[in-house]
Amino acid sequence: MDHDFVDESWVRLAQLPSVQHSSGVMELRLPVSESKRWQMVCNMPVPSHLVVHNWKRQVKSWIRKSTAVADKNMLVDNLEQFWQHVEYSHARAGSYADLNSFLMSRVVNETWNYSTLFVRLSETFTVFENGFTFLISNSNMYSDALRRAENMFMSHGIDTGVSSSSHLHAPAWLHCKCGSKTSAKIAMKNSDLVLAGPCMSCKKEQVLNLGNPENLDLGQFVHKLSPRAIPIPLLLARDLGISCYASGTGGIGYLVVGNIVSKKLGIGLPLVLVWPSRDIYKGIGQSEAAASMSTENNDLYLQSLEKQNVEYEERIKPLLSKRTERVRTGEPLGELLSRLFELKEEQREVRRKISTAEKIRNAGNLSPCFIDYAVNFGMARTERAWKNHLVKDGGLASPVEF
Ligand SMILES: [Zn+2]
Repeated sequence: MDHDFVDESWVRLAQLPSVQHSSGVMELRLPVSESKRWQMVCNMPVPSHLVVHNWKRQVKSWIRKSTAVADKNMLVDNLEQFWQHVEYSHARAGSYADLNSFLMSRVVNETWNYSTLFVRLSETFTVFENGFTFLISNSNMYSDALRRAENMFMSHGIDTGVSSSSHLHAPAWLHCKCGSKTSAKIAMKNSDLVLAGPCMSCKKEQVLNLGNPENLDLGQFVHKLSPRAIPIPLLLARDLGISCYASGTGGIGYLVVGNIVSKKLGIGLPLVLVWPSRDIYKGIGQSEAAASMSTENNDLYLQSLEKQNVEYEERIKPLLSKRTERVRTGEPLGELLSRLFELKEEQREVRRKISTAEKIRNAGNLSPCFIDYAVNFGMARTERAWKNHLVKDGGLASPVEF
């Protein structure tokens, strides 16, 4: 999905559990300047050597500083093995999107031996030429089906996450010269069909004249288009005849809306799979979080601390009003101030405990990035754990025990 905006958090953010960080999470980030936020990932340059080097340094220091592991050398070895793939991919990448896809492809093809072809969505436009023509020619039907689906879910109080105005936009993004894209609308201009709208990044109005709607020929324009979220499975089904579509849980809302639209358009969707299982394991970050817990049940503990905090708030408030009142009337303050000081100190202590308990909760609840697996188990053992679960249990929703 290298036509996504680079500002999407999962495109430029990797997370590892760490109670030594203020939020309980350590982040590896791709620095993106404000002016580049709306660039498509395929147009982002490869990060510098320094950035990649710093990511590795961060992970190494995370291992070294951990208090919950006996054999740190083994974990550093695991990191070194994984990082060979990172450096190999980095050396050959022509864009930030390359770095990500080369790395995934190396792990999947080289280490796990699953012969798998990785394809850039930004380069599939020729495959979708026919499908784009179909969707744009039938844009009234497409947009009407989308609007009805959105209303249907909304009237049942179901938030699919799909924008309530998505039916107003064309099924394809229109790319801009600046490296970003336009959420274009379809309109008629002197009996020609046009895609038009302001670019998300440079804000310049983009207009693409598609010619006579009765006889659409997208051949010369199709490289400027890429599909929006809902049409992706529709186009893959229609133009490639795929037999299975595997999605993340974040895409489910789009898929249920897309399913209704596909029926209206007479496109049969393939089997759709999601694998929302939680992995149950104790890596160094999770172990350190567990060891920092002051009680068995951190969530209950956190609730009781938050209650205490509110109680302190309620005890402190009237004393503050009293203080203001006494300052006004010139009455003595001594005893009142020392009581106030005492309570504030106690509240500070409660708040400190809340922040520790929150860090533990965040570290424990995190679904970490692949580096957490590669470091704690090695890449090969990670794949075995997932595969064994699928072979023995097969439940796509049941937890995977490492
Ligand atoms: Zn632009």
